[in-house]
Amino acid sequence: MTTVYRNLALFIKAGILRRTSIAEDSGAWYEHIWAQNHHDHLVCSRCGKRIEFSYQAIEILQEAVAKEYGFTLESHYLELIGLCPDCRNNDGTQGEA
Ligand SMILES: [Zn+2]
Ligand SMILES: [Zn+2]
Repeated sequence: MTTVYRNLALFIKAGILRRTSIAEDSGAWYEHIWAQNHHDHLVCSRCGKRIEFSYQAIEILQEAVAKEYGFTLESHYLELIGLCPDCRNNDGTQGEA
């Protein structure tokens, strides 16, 4: 967690993130300034189902990687491939995967 928080401070300084005062008591809440409606995808390799998700830590870490290589990120496209819950359950009848 400490690394993430150190990165948070960096990105706030760089103007990528902005700390909001909404959830001050339940921990700080951070907002992506440049990608308000951004999301990434989980994709099922069996049925092709796509699930949208957004996970702040992933976004922040991708920024950290880009920065480390001297890149300024314009966009990214992240897909996590695997089995959806339905396909995993169907697998159960056919033994161990
Ligand atoms: Zn993303
Ligand atoms: Zn599936």
